[in-house]
Amino acid sequence: MPEGAPTAHRPEHRKVVIIGSGPAGLTAALYTARAQLEPLVIEGEPSSTSDQPGGQLMLTTEVENYPGFVDGIMGPELMGIMRAQALRFDAELRVAKVSRLELGPRPFELWIGDPAADAPTVTADAVIVATGARSLMLGVANEARLLGYGVSTCATCDGFFFRDQHIAVAGGGDSAIEEASFLTRFASKVTIIHRRDQLRASKIMQERAFANPKIEFRWNSVVTDILGDTKVAGLRLRDTVSGQESELDATGLFVAIGHEPNSSLLKGQVELADNGYVRTFDGTTRTSVEGVFACGDVQDDYYRQAVTSAGSGCMAAIDAERWLETQGE
Ligand code: NAP
Repeated sequence: MPEGAPTAHRPEHRKVVIIGSGPAGLTAALYTARAQLEPLVIEGEPSSTSDQPGGQLMLTTEVENYPGFVDGIMGPELMGIMRAQALRFDAELRVAKVSRLELGPRPFELWIGDPAADAPTVTADAVIVATGARSLMLGVANEARLLGYGVSTCATCDGFFFRDQHIAVAGGGDSAIEEASFLTRFASKVTIIHRRDQLRASKIMQERAFANPKIEFRWNSVVTDILGDTKVAGLRLRDTVSGQESELDATGLFVAIGHEPNSSLLKGQVELADNGYVRTFDGTTRTSVEGVFACGDVQDDYYRQAVTSAGSGCMAAIDAERWLETQGE
């Protein structure tokens, strides 16, 4: 080869690559590391909503329902502990984003950086997908700034912090009604703000909400601004029919307009459900492709809790480990 000619790029090979670094990914890392599978975790990159990878808990303040923390713990601190625990057993964590994934060939191929590059960056015998999901957000002024400070996307997680307060819920689907009903346990009043004059939610959920004396509705209304310096102090609304602006004195806003799994990387590669979540089979983390496992919110549109995510991360690690054993690893 002439001097200075580019050398062919050889991808790095791993037994297990984990994509994602929320509770699912890091628990899978801990278990596969302890099983001596030397996992590589491709953590993700800072995004518009978070300056660090680590999933949705990086956007949360206090977490009071993760077992083991009697006094609660801040979301980012919890993720820091999970990272440290995975690192203790020599999992390798890399801040990077997978730009392309090929699950047809064996070993599996993953690209970091230029997805058009000839050779993949990493190849893997088994892949654990833990890319999570994101709550759809309204995209209005101050929403991102006050997330965790009165703006929330999870009533189960944060409802408790709003005792005897007036809480608003944005949305008109089953999630919004479910969140609103749950929040009436704590709130003095819950106002559902819906952009139309009819709910999308199922009839039975609607009836339940209409019968709940603590729930009020602001029909044909959208949130245009969230007021407050360090925490939510009120909302500015606009009537979608008359255009009239008004203020609502709520001290909390739960955004419940749907979730989206981070599964675009997997389209056409593994079987996805109609709503885009990765299909797993028989109560395991196995996907439609042998050797590819999915855990956490990318495959769970129902429980969506940090602890259930972590639990399924453990399952994925064990599923991957046992599958690798059957392959002679
Ligand atoms: P969804 O059914 O898609 O409803 C989203 C709601 O948010 C709709 O009312 C929509 O308004 C509103 N919305 C969307 N974007 C908005 C925006 N930018 N600004 C203001 N409002 C906006 O989502 P989901 O409620 O999360 O439910 C997802 C799926 O899970 C559904 O199939 C649901 O049945 C299921 N689910 C079931 C249960 C249960 O059975 N217990 C509980 C939760 C969820 P429009 O109506 O005008 O489109």
